[in-house]
Amino acid sequence: MQSFLEQLVEKHKTAAHEGKLADYIPQLTEQNPLALGITVRTCDGDVYTAGDCPIQFTLQSISKVITLILALMDQGEDEVFKRVGMEPTGSPFNSIYDLEVKSPGKPFNPMINSGALVVSSLIQGSTVDERLERILGLVRDMAENPEIEIDQAVYHSEGVTGYRNRSMGYFLKEFGIIEDVESTLELYFKQCAISVTCDDLSRMGLCLARNGKNQAGEQVIPQPLARLVKTFMVTCGMYNASGEFAILVGIPAKSGVSGGIMASVPERMGIGVFGPALDEKGNSYAGVRMLRDLSREWNLSIF
Ligand code: GLN
Repeated sequence: MQSFLEQLVEKHKTAAHEGKLADYIPQLTEQNPLALGITVRTCDGDVYTAGDCPIQFTLQSISKVITLILALMDQGEDEVFKRVGMEPTGSPFNSIYDLEVKSPGKPFNPMINSGALVVSSLIQGSTVDERLERILGLVRDMAENPEIEIDQAVYHSEGVTGYRNRSMGYFLKEFGIIEDVESTLELYFKQCAISVTCDDLSRMGLCLARNGKNQAGEQVIPQPLARLVKTFMVTCGMYNASGEFAILVGIPAKSGVSGGIMASVPERMGIGVFGPALDEKGNSYAGVRMLRDLSREWNLSIF
């Protein structure tokens, strides 16, 4: 596996030229577009890592998995799914059109921005900081890394340019779905700015692969919720490329616009990938290709 991962990074490094950094969050353009790394952690305790793995990057949309778990723990399935659906969209992750025309006032699923805003609004706590601490707490427990923090520069950068998310927040308020838009946006921008490495993502993916138990053996996520979010990762985790990803790769995964991908092969392994040059749907260009080759070589598809 070790030499295979090294070959994988070598093979796909140049492919990063085909992708493009996300620039609508200005701070993300500070990333090196040619960075590429992967960490694999198996349920048997083996770890393999290749490429630019020490680099820190932000969770972005990967945080949507974590907040969904917390909202479900706080409110239960009925309350959450009254406000946000379970269907993939086929549209970009930040579509306003869907929210107004196709499914007015009820976002299609929790893995798109409008759905994630609703989910964040449901997380309990008396202040934004208290709610954020709960999100950070779960990320740290899954990754078994108490040092995980927010990247303040990315948080501020998104806060000043997040016009579209702000629009969707107020649109949802008109429907009575979100009450306090500003505190929801603050929490959402902060959760997106949680800073991790490939190793952290591989441990988080492994925790889901082990049905919510981290490597230390603590049940940090109730088992039924670990299954539920892995299902969303299959149907909606790679935005409007989720169908193609299911066919080509076949692994529950969630990507973010900073170039991270957290993948989870049930009962087998967790995988963390980082490659900030993105394809046109917003997924790591080289990252998706590495996962495709890895899945084929090691027969990892769940289907
Ligand atoms: N923070 C980003 C946004 O709201 C997250 C989106 C993503 O990773 N796809 O636009």
